[in-house]
Amino acid sequence: MTGHITVECPHCYTRVLPMENNICPACKMDMSDTHDIDPRLVSLVIRESDDLPPYCYSCNSYTERYVKVVGDKGTLLDQSFGSVVSLFVPRRKIEENTSNVFVRLPQCELCAEAGEPSPLYVDYINQNMTFIVNIDFKKRVQPTPSDETFPDDDVSTDGEITDL
Ligand SMILES: [Zn+2]
Ligand SMILES: [Zn+2]
Repeated sequence: MTGHITVECPHCYTRVLPMENNICPACKMDMSDTHDIDPRLVSLVIRESDDLPPYCYSCNSYTERYVKVVGDKGTLLDQSFGSVVSLFVPRRKIEENTSNVFVRLPQCELCAEAGEPSPLYVDYINQNMTFIVNIDFKKRVQPTPSDETFPDDDVSTDGEITDL
């Protein structure tokens, strides 16, 4: 196994192996050119069972409004290559092998006016969805592991058990 290093394209958020000159094979844009990228938007994988904090995924303001987002595979197939698939695979077989994915995503009313959240990618096998979210919202869901410094580490010295 050779160590292929995939990186996330800042333009289309796809994990790719950059081509020469840092060109993303998915969207053909220059991955080193990030001047038009919003640094506050990052991709986040949300699992179906995830309990998300009550903060808008898009602007990180407090909200108790949750939107159910359903990954409808049937619709996706119809839109993209449904006609091709139906020629070779019986419709019933497709439905047997998949189960729908849905997540409950917090979205404030202001952002709701801009439209319903739509996933960047739906993974039916692992039952999760990838969304473009506010970077601070991502930090609430997935705190960076390297930041695990506990300033009050004198707790251990106080209640120390010495006898082994
Ligand atoms: Zn790209
Ligand atoms: Zn919002």
